[in-house]
Amino acid sequence: MRHRRVVPVILPILLCLLIALTSVPARAHGQHEPTPGSAASSTGANIERAVGALGKIQAVLEFYYLDHGEYPDRLSTMIKQFNLGAGPGEPQLQLPTDPATGRDFVYIPSSDHTRYRLRVPRPQSYGVDRLQVHQVNWAWMTRLAQAQKKRRDTVECAERMRVVASAINQYNRDHRNQFPEKLSQLVPRYLKVLPVCPATGKPYFYQATSRGFEIGCPNPSVHGFRIFGFSSTTGLERH
Ligand SMILES: [Zn+2]
Repeated sequence: MRHRRVVPVILPILLCLLIALTSVPARAHGQHEPTPGSAASSTGANIERAVGALGKIQAVLEFYYLDHGEYPDRLSTMIKQFNLGAGPGEPQLQLPTDPATGRDFVYIPSSDHTRYRLRVPRPQSYGVDRLQVHQVNWAWMTRLAQAQKKRRDTVECAERMRVVASAINQYNRDHRNQFPEKLSQLVPRYLKVLPVCPATGKPYFYQATSRGFEIGCPNPSVHGFRIFGFSSTTGLERH
C-alpha cells in the first residue's frame, strides 16, 4: 500500500521539474555555431530566444502529456483546452512564436501521439541546419500518464453513451414511442455526428429491446470492464 501514497507527492515534484526544464536550453538539438561572416552576436541572441520559446512550449506539451497520457494533435487544440479551464479574469495561455520570422513553430506529433518534434520554421534564419526539441523521456512515469488517459477515456466514454441515450429518448418522444432501428437515424436531427468510443474510435453497439434500448462500448476491455454500456431500464452498467 505504501507506493500509493507516493502519487500525490509526485505531482508537485513534476511541476517543479517542468519549470526546471523550461530553463534548460541544452535540450534543443541544433548547431548553435553562428555562420561565419554573419552578425554573430545577434544570431546568437536569436538562437537563445528561440530555444527559450521552444522550451516554454515543450513544458506545456509535457504538462499536457502527464495529464492526458498522449501528446495533442495540434498546439492550437492544446491551448484551447488549457484556456477553457482558466477561470474568469485568469490570464489566458499564449504560445510564443518564432522570434526570427514571427511565424508559429512547427509541431509534428507521431501518429500514436507518444512522441513529437517541435522546430523553428526556418532554421536558416538562425544560420543552422536544424533547431528543434522533442518529447521528454518520462521513463517509468509514462505509466502514470497512461493510467490517467485510461481514466479520462472511461469517463468520456460513459458521457458519450449518456449523450446518445438522451438523443434516443428525444427521438422516442418525437416518434410516438418508437425507438430508432439504427443509431444513424439520430443524425443530423438529434446528434450532429455519431459519437464513438474515445479509446478506440469505434462506434457504439445499439439495440432496441422490448422494454427500451441498450447501448454498448465496442471494446469494454480497454476500460478494464467485461461489460460497459447504457441501458434504458438500468442506466450505466459496468462490471
Ligand atoms: Zn469505450
